[in-house]
Amino acid sequence: MNLSSQPLDLKLKHTFRIAREARDVQNNLVVLLRDEDGVTGLGEAAPTRFFGEDVSSVSQVLTQSISLLEKADPFQIEDISLLLKDKFPKDAAARSAIDIALHDIIGKKLRIPLYKFLGLHRCEGKATSFTIGIDTVETMCKKVEEAKDFPILKIKAGMKDDVEMLRELRKITKAVFRVDANTGWTPDEAITKINLMEDLGVELVEQPFPVGSIEALKKVRRQVKIPIFADEDVKDSKDIPAFSDAVDGINIKLMKCGGIREAMRMIYTARAHGLQIMIGCNIESSLSITAAAHLASLVDHIDLDGHLLVTNDPYAGVTADRGRLTLPEGDGLGVKARCPAPVSFL
Ligand code: MG
Repeated sequence: MNLSSQPLDLKLKHTFRIAREARDVQNNLVVLLRDEDGVTGLGEAAPTRFFGEDVSSVSQVLTQSISLLEKADPFQIEDISLLLKDKFPKDAAARSAIDIALHDIIGKKLRIPLYKFLGLHRCEGKATSFTIGIDTVETMCKKVEEAKDFPILKIKAGMKDDVEMLRELRKITKAVFRVDANTGWTPDEAITKINLMEDLGVELVEQPFPVGSIEALKKVRRQVKIPIFADEDVKDSKDIPAFSDAVDGINIKLMKCGGIREAMRMIYTARAHGLQIMIGCNIESSLSITAAAHLASLVDHIDLDGHLLVTNDPYAGVTADRGRLTLPEGDGLGVKARCPAPVSFL
């Protein structure tokens, strides 16, 4: 297979602010794999510095992968995944781009959509949440107004006045709230805040504490009723057993775990430990968001809105009508470049 890649700079509609950082542009990379029959597959890497990746580290991995994939058969996806994981253990977003492109090629060669290749049914109409980043309460209210068609909102938290902010938002919407603290709380703060959130229509709370705070999670879980989900804590399947008694569910992201193959392993592992599952995302185009959406039938909660937060998505794939997802028609991912295609491989 031949591997090429191009940068994809996604511009955010609003500055994206979470408990630990803010940004206006998300720098991603698009990968194109072409097999010996000329069938092409597309993938995307959306790296995050929190997990030690950026465009330059992804580029390096992709460059080094060219020779590794030269003679590879795309159907030997398990072998390729293991080889790449062995060579680039910390580069999950880079590996994810290749994994997504391999799945796209296989679907196109077999002339079936990705969900069918994975043994799943076509999942229609499940709702994704829509993310409201941290800002002044006034601006967050404006963002909630803009998202009024979405039945579920993921509210980014991790600031002093989280509960007051949620109370203000609750005045203007009936949407279900999911609250994501992105590691921003202390244990005592979390217990107080989560208990106050019980009357505010909060369905779940995500990643209240810094990574590795297992005892704090267990303590909080004993003292609150709202389910607690781990995100930053659980990168791939090997991280799950340690958190099985500490949280109610986990957030799986292709960019965090290394792609579709590992996401499936995470789903099986989480179920074996009795955990609920959310499928989430970074700031990504419709390309990799659609890849994740093919797994929707296996999860309890969907948080696939990264493509809805940007102004220059060059791809068309899964759609979200009032939050309800519909997969595109077509083989593999079913993703098409919008016309004129801003990302080309000339
Ligand atoms: Mg999160």
